[in-house]
Amino acid sequence: MKFKEENRSLILRKRILALLLAAGILVTLPACVSMEPCENCGRTPTKGYRNDYTGENEYYCTSCSSDCTFCSNTATRHYTSALGLIIFVCEDCYADILEFNS
Ligand SMILES: [Zn+2]
Ligand SMILES: [Zn+2]
Repeated sequence: MKFKEENRSLILRKRILALLLAAGILVTLPACVSMEPCENCGRTPTKGYRNDYTGENEYYCTSCSSDCTFCSNTATRHYTSALGLIIFVCEDCYADILEFNS
């Protein structure tokens, strides 16, 4: 009996951990328009995106942040990859990534 209960709380803990990991890739909304040069092409204006890997803001212009990395759709979301890069993705691919991470 006791073993079963311990087992259940372990499963619960794993679930919470999974939730926390999933939440970790949900990035906060982009900051205001900035005059920092784009990380990719050096153009301005840019928007600041928080890199959850480094904890710092990175700046990207509209054209470098509007295409999905995985398909040709318009990117509406972004997340920090395990490699510490900010990845811009469309709604569909973002949903796939969430699924993959859960
Ligand atoms: Zn750019
Ligand atoms: Zn896509």
